[in-house]
Amino acid sequence: MIKELAGRIAEERIRPVRAELDEREEFPWEIVKEMARSDLFRVFVPEEYEGLGGGCLELCLVVEELSRVCSAVAITYAASALGAFPLIVSGTEEQKKKHLPAIASGEKLAAFALTEATAGSDAGAIKTTANREKGGYVLNGTKQFITNGGEAELYTVIALTDKERGARGASAFLVEKDTQGFSFGKKERKMGIRASATRELVFHDCLIPEENLIGKEGMGFMITLRVLDNSRPGVAAQALGIAQGALEEATDYARQRVQFEHPIISLQAVQHMLADMAIEVEAARALVYSVAKTIDSGSKSIKEESAMAKVFASDVAMRVTTNAVQVFGGSGYMRDYPIEKMMRDAKITQIYEGTNQVLRNVIASELRKRRAKAE
Ligand SMILES: Cc1cc2nc3c(=O)[nH]c(=O)nc-3n(C[C@H](O)[C@H](O)[C@H](O)COP(=O)(O)OP(=O)(O)OC[C@H]3O[C@@H](n4cnc5c(N)ncnc54)[C@H](O)[C@@H]3O)c2cc1C
Repeated sequence: MIKELAGRIAEERIRPVRAELDEREEFPWEIVKEMARSDLFRVFVPEEYEGLGGGCLELCLVVEELSRVCSAVAITYAASALGAFPLIVSGTEEQKKKHLPAIASGEKLAAFALTEATAGSDAGAIKTTANREKGGYVLNGTKQFITNGGEAELYTVIALTDKERGARGASAFLVEKDTQGFSFGKKERKMGIRASATRELVFHDCLIPEENLIGKEGMGFMITLRVLDNSRPGVAAQALGIAQGALEEATDYARQRVQFEHPIISLQAVQHMLADMAIEVEAARALVYSVAKTIDSGSKSIKEESAMAKVFASDVAMRVTTNAVQVFGGSGYMRDYPIEKMMRDAKITQIYEGTNQVLRNVIASELRKRRAKAE
């Protein structure tokens, strides 16, 4: 039902406007409102806080269906889930009661802010500080490349409460949009997912109440790692959806494009490209759903699987969209067709929530530990 609902919104509301939104780099507020009215934001919120209590699999199904048509809209949705996850996994009862119902209803979007100009893959190098002062915490620093930046009402921000302790001195905080000392900096102009908002968050002597600390002081990176392990299949689902969409577009084009008096789909060279694309998409789907189900079973050792799903599906999305452009020939290079957008959109899935190089490091390190244990 959830997949069908997301698919219907994607076809009826997103498909007709996706090219325009991309061209204008316009945040898809009307579509976000429609998704909210259709209860899609409730999917990832527990039932106690007015959600539908869906797990990782349900979230992946929604993200896949939306991405099949437009992954900029899908990531706007998924980033709200990412922003809400720290609260869901480590928030107090009061924090959850106060904020999750508004995220579930879609009245408020959330965002997750870790990255800084000098701290990307090396997230432990963050410099934003949160000092205990004036009966709360005072934040100073700048976050970079934050999805839903400027549009979301609620931000989960990772900042240092103890600079001496490095990564162990980081904590997670909830910052509301209209807090004094919190403003938005540069709005990024991107290669793909252009309708999504990516922005700097600037904290200048920004005082937030003590009760906005999520978890305990020093738990910021533990919360981050747990959240990202759980959310990476969502990026994998984004990649899967893009690849599925590109496969559909390429197959339809090949059925109707005539060269040498026959549709190009009758050429074996084209058939084999489409077949290889279909095999890769199906393999990615099997891995993404299987990892999502493992997460939903409550398994704690998901780091490796979650990284594998993201790396595999995003590499598939890049290959499939590149080949889909090839099937379209010169038309694939033109903005008149949706396929060049899909290729641009696919690229980001190899980069965010851990680049594929960094995630390969994670997979290799887990592999090594497991074999050492088995000795
Ligand atoms: C559109 C967009 C949206 C984003 N949204 C968010 C968001 O909502 N919240 C947030 O906190 N962040 C967000 N990010 C940030 C994103 O997670 C980072 O860009 C990503 O983690 C990579 O960091 P970096 O850009 O600093 O690249 P770098 O870390 O500088 O990496 C550059 C290159 O070096 C390689 N590299 C670096 N370290 C290693 C290593 N140890 N081993 C092997 N290779 C390595 C990388 O793989 C990459 O190829 C977003 C980024 C983009 C582009």
